[in-house]
Amino acid sequence: MLRILAVLAAFCAVTYGCPTILTKSQWGGRAPTCRTAMATPVTYVVIHHTEGTSCTSQSACITQAKNVQNYHMNSNGWCDVGYNFLVGEDGLVYEGRGWTSVGAHAPNYNSNSIGISVFGSFISRNPNTAAQNAVKSLISCGVSRGYIKSAYILKGHRNVTATDCPGNTFYSTITSWPRFQY
Ligand SMILES: [Zn+2]
Repeated sequence: MLRILAVLAAFCAVTYGCPTILTKSQWGGRAPTCRTAMATPVTYVVIHHTEGTSCTSQSACITQAKNVQNYHMNSNGWCDVGYNFLVGEDGLVYEGRGWTSVGAHAPNYNSNSIGISVFGSFISRNPNTAAQNAVKSLISCGVSRGYIKSAYILKGHRNVTATDCPGNTFYSTITSWPRFQY
């Protein structure tokens, strides 16, 4: 029985896959100064943009990940970068607080959501296909690994807080993604 489960687990991992996720240590991020564990699976996925500089190469995205983390820790005084994950137009995912730590990205939703932010400002353009696919793949990955409920609800940051995030164009795009709810 265990062997069958192991085979099934391997099959599912291959079937659903996960995007390439660079861990905090792989991109040279700072360790958190405090951490609150998050109960999983979570109900919500909240989409953001950093409203900063976009990046299309791993080295450029690493620079942006460090910039965002430094801003959140040094200027905002937070324990860590606010988002659970960051995504670049290089198609890679950069670990923030990860799957099992409460983020600081959407008041009232932080303890029951995964916050995913794409590097860049998407007011008048969309993230490229690589970045959009990485976000979708990351959500599927979270569901397959049991960190996100299969009946999750997708929201844009503006649906839960008074903000323009994740930018008009990208927001319009995610309203047509699976499981989106206003
Ligand atoms: Zn946001």
